[in-house]
Amino acid sequence: MPSQAPSAASYVQKPATLAELREAVVCGRTRAADLAARYYGRIEQLNPALNVYLSLTRERAMEQADRVDRAAAKGDPLGPLAGIPVGVKDVLVTKASASTAGSRILAGYEPPYDATAVTRLEAAGAVLLGKLNCDEFAMGGSNENSAYGPVHNPHDLDRVPGGSSGGSAAAVAADLAVATLGTDTGGSIRQPASFCGVVGVLPTYGRVSRYGLIAFASSLDRVGPLAANVRDAATLLGIMAGHDPHDATCSTAPVPDYAAESDRSAEGLRIGVPAEYFAEGLDSEVRAAVEKGIDALRGSGCTVQPVSLPSTPHAVPVYYLIATAEASANLARFDGVRYGHRSADSATLADMYRHSRDEGFGPEVKRRILLGTYALSAGYYDAYYRKAQQVRRLLAEEFLRAFAQVDAIVTPTAPTPAFKLGEKVDDPVAMYLADIYTVTASLAGICGVNVPCGKTAAGLPVGMQVLAAHFNESTAFRIARAVEAAGL
Ligand code: GLN
Repeated sequence: MPSQAPSAASYVQKPATLAELREAVVCGRTRAADLAARYYGRIEQLNPALNVYLSLTRERAMEQADRVDRAAAKGDPLGPLAGIPVGVKDVLVTKASASTAGSRILAGYEPPYDATAVTRLEAAGAVLLGKLNCDEFAMGGSNENSAYGPVHNPHDLDRVPGGSSGGSAAAVAADLAVATLGTDTGGSIRQPASFCGVVGVLPTYGRVSRYGLIAFASSLDRVGPLAANVRDAATLLGIMAGHDPHDATCSTAPVPDYAAESDRSAEGLRIGVPAEYFAEGLDSEVRAAVEKGIDALRGSGCTVQPVSLPSTPHAVPVYYLIATAEASANLARFDGVRYGHRSADSATLADMYRHSRDEGFGPEVKRRILLGTYALSAGYYDAYYRKAQQVRRLLAEEFLRAFAQVDAIVTPTAPTPAFKLGEKVDDPVAMYLADIYTVTASLAGICGVNVPCGKTAAGLPVGMQVLAAHFNESTAFRIARAVEAAGL
């Protein structure tokens, strides 16, 4: 904590909207360089207590800001993110600057290229302030698995910001960036967005390029934006989305103007509410807030009806089999030879691999490599991995059937508000079970948005999850806008 720590209330701050800030830069009222400097000032003041940024990219930011200011002065056309200060989760690589994935094993690693999502934001004029803290290799739901210390929730410094994109969510909540990039494999954008009271988007699988994303579980990993309001998040998605020849899993489907789509009224849209997401284990204040959100949707002219997603109780075990199996394969590449940490004292090559991995990986990453390797091993593959794939299919089909009847499904994003730092660290199963409402959309490949929908009596944010069918982000944005407009 800094010696003169600001009061808790002053950590949370809403930024001006992206459109307002851009307008100020374009017409020369605000210099992009001054805006970036202002954000760096706030980071200097608040980051020691929040631990949101792992590294700053000052030189790169100031060069980009100057480019924007020179173009503005000449009256050249400027991109849709001209001068907008952004932060990026440290699992996305950035050329010649630290990219750690929150792991000791990647300490000192400076990649030779930029992730496509980062390239696209910068091409649109965004100013990259730095790289954001996260759970190691995006494995976790509280940011406590970062090798570089936990992030503190700006709403209550004793609480977790959620994870794994905890830095990305807390940075937006504390206005240490106007918008950020996160990644979501089983809830890592939506759940921290919910805990920090910001908007977070899980795009459809294949909507956004993953080139330059340090892989966790490749059939689930997605890159998406976080922002202080729905329209800003939609604007970012429109810029990031679309085909990338560097990523064979990235869709060629045309990219709608999401920001404009989000302006359309939600009137007449059909909302499904699955009873399975309002069952035992849901905090009563979260339930009450989400129900108010649903009432607000009725008030905006949506129709609300029950839908059934009966396989929901199987989603957590299925997710933790598939995600760990894929992680065990993806993380084989960290061997002390090609990237980051290499153990100093090894007599043989095998020892060097062993020691580098032992010293470089934290306990949760090791646990997952062990679980995943076990699930894939001969004799267990059919019982665990293949079975999990079959249930995954069932879950996806249930969503498709539901989307034949309704335009979107709304649920709580997480069963509780932000919990206390340290509360669940010693109980991995409790931590895994808290992912119950987010892993389903991850397994099904569909899209979703977390939108804030009120607070608990103690002032902690509650989030509503709006899920829509594959490539139907526009509908999720329209509904999220209606919830946001209710000002709950
Ligand atoms: N909390 C989940 C996990 O620990 C989700 C992580 C993520 O989406 N990256 O795997």
